[in-house]
Amino acid sequence: MTAGLKFNETLYPGVEVSYSCDEILYQEKTEHQDLVLFTNPVFGKVLMLDGVTQVTTKDEFIYHEMMSHVPILAHGSAKTVLIVGGGDCGLAEEVLKHPTVERLVQVEIDASVVDFSKEHFGDFNEGVLDDARFELVIADGMKFAAETDRRFDVVIVDSTDPHGPGEVLFSEEFYRNVHRMLTPGGVLVTQNGVPFLQKDELVTSIERFSRIFKDAAAYIAAIPTYFGGHMTLGWASDNPDLRRQAASLLEERFKAAGFETQYYTPDVHAAAFALPKFILDAVEEGRAKA
Ligand code: SAM
Repeated sequence: MTAGLKFNETLYPGVEVSYSCDEILYQEKTEHQDLVLFTNPVFGKVLMLDGVTQVTTKDEFIYHEMMSHVPILAHGSAKTVLIVGGGDCGLAEEVLKHPTVERLVQVEIDASVVDFSKEHFGDFNEGVLDDARFELVIADGMKFAAETDRRFDVVIVDSTDPHGPGEVLFSEEFYRNVHRMLTPGGVLVTQNGVPFLQKDELVTSIERFSRIFKDAAAYIAAIPTYFGGHMTLGWASDNPDLRRQAASLLEERFKAAGFETQYYTPDVHAAAFALPKFILDAVEEGRAKA
């Protein structure tokens, strides 16, 4: 037991979110980042990388469902999916629920994150590593994107924030390489922060998307442990219709996929693109700067 020990999230100077720690399950300074996995009485297992909350067993479903089912059901016939990051493999578990997905490649820079997630995050990544469709590549997503000649219908960047190893995954060069990797009509979705506290991150991503893709947008989800209100998921595609699918069509596709969810519904999917004014303003600001 580690009575009295607390871990503070230090992402936002001037604000600290403090988690009491019942037990430290794993701690390591890897070659890429400081990694700690601990248990908290409210959120269960909590993973922090470089002092930033990444995933908890209590609310991971919100984030993983919205980052996977929105692009895949909007696309309608995604066979090949790429995840960049996503070391806890919770996102991979959601992607693999889609029977239409024939291949899922995950490019994760830090093998340690995957290794301990196998042991400690079985609650939400069960079966991923044994799925014949799943291919894990331990590499920098930036390098993979620059060098691969493989093509994907959906690319999902489940990265850390733009500090440390994750920074390159917010660059225009990376987005250009993703654009090259996408099949016609494909879609990129990115972890794009909490705009109430990280507005510039969203503006900059939209600005860069707008220089490369025909449609640059964002959608929202409310993840309790991503402190500060709505989280935005960046959206980029050369097919502007993809994010305007009717809830009835999404309903049809969701029913055909045949799995249960705890957050995602076709109505929530359609509504997620209706942005609060201050977030829409940030998206418009990014488009205007391109
Ligand atoms: N849900 C979290 C969030 O929204 O911040 C992200 C979770 S996931 C643990 C983030 C993953 O991105 C980590 O496993 C980290 O190792 C990985 N990562 C960071 N930079 C990377 C890079 N350049 N290439 C590939 N993976 C990277």
